[in-house]
Amino acid sequence: MSTQKTFSFELFPPKTDKGFEKLRATVLTLNERRPAFFSCTYGAGGSTRDNTFATVDWLRSQDIDTAPHLTCIGNTVDETLGILERYKHQGINRIVALRGDRPSGTGVGGGDLAYANELVALIREHFGDHFHIEVAAYPEMHPQAPSFPVDIDNFCNKIRAGANSAITQYFYNVDAYIHFVKQCRQRGVDAPVVPGIMLITNYSNLARFSDACGAEIPRWIRKRLESYGDDSAGIRAFGAEVVTRLCEQLLEAGAPGLHFYTMNQAGPTLEIWDRLGI
Ligand code: FAD
Repeated sequence: MSTQKTFSFELFPPKTDKGFEKLRATVLTLNERRPAFFSCTYGAGGSTRDNTFATVDWLRSQDIDTAPHLTCIGNTVDETLGILERYKHQGINRIVALRGDRPSGTGVGGGDLAYANELVALIREHFGDHFHIEVAAYPEMHPQAPSFPVDIDNFCNKIRAGANSAITQYFYNVDAYIHFVKQCRQRGVDAPVVPGIMLITNYSNLARFSDACGAEIPRWIRKRLESYGDDSAGIRAFGAEVVTRLCEQLLEAGAPGLHFYTMNQAGPTLEIWDRLGI
């Protein structure tokens, strides 16, 4: 397999000491595979701020390439710039720049910046080319977008504002990804769009997440998962088969890498990684 492709892992900031202990073990195991970077999520409005900082601090103490997520909604420009300064001083040179959602589930109101393209422009204005900026992409359309073409235009504006590449919301429909990338290329945007890969290990959690973020679980996958009931080993085996095939098809279709939503667990991600022979 081509070594040009970028493989990365996403973490979320744990809330407890036990969670941190588990995260450290997960990262040390996954880091043996030499990913391009680990990203760490950030709760919109700063809700996970301290735990995100603690996670990022530990990753940097291990000299691990780290890409903190940063949301702009609900924050002042000064707060946002302060966080970016902190990261710059830690030797961080990659950021995942996002709008985030308000607790109501919408992005409306609050803070100095309304959309992710404004955050991207702010980073470029104050930090030049210091940061490699990743932004979010939605092959199945962002749930609040008025239409697919408008959403793709908005995505392209983030790249034009200075983002280098994108990571997608997860999806299980390869054609949606291929179509999205084609639409970007038709608009003259050729930034790499790396698929975000959500592992399938638990049906009820996946169904809940998917309803919230607008990612579709195809009917045949839902039906198969439902049929396993409480058989978690069956769900994991079926999930690994589906996700491995998805990754293979994406890489064959030219995806420039894969970004795994690890959910702070090493095992399920490594199973896919090994099956793919990365
Ligand atoms: P934007 O790109 O700003 O888009 C949001 C909506 O507004 C879209 O419907 C878009 O079409 C529209 N829009 C964009 N620009 C404009 C404009 N100028 N005028 C009018 N409409 C516009 N959330 C977190 O809270 N923390 C995280 O760490 C986090 N990490 C994520 C990582 C990835 C890879 C992804 C895919 C999502 C992540 N999210 C995270 C969720 C994300 O914050 C939400 O999906 C949020 O609703 C949109 O963020 P965005 O950066 O895509 O917003």
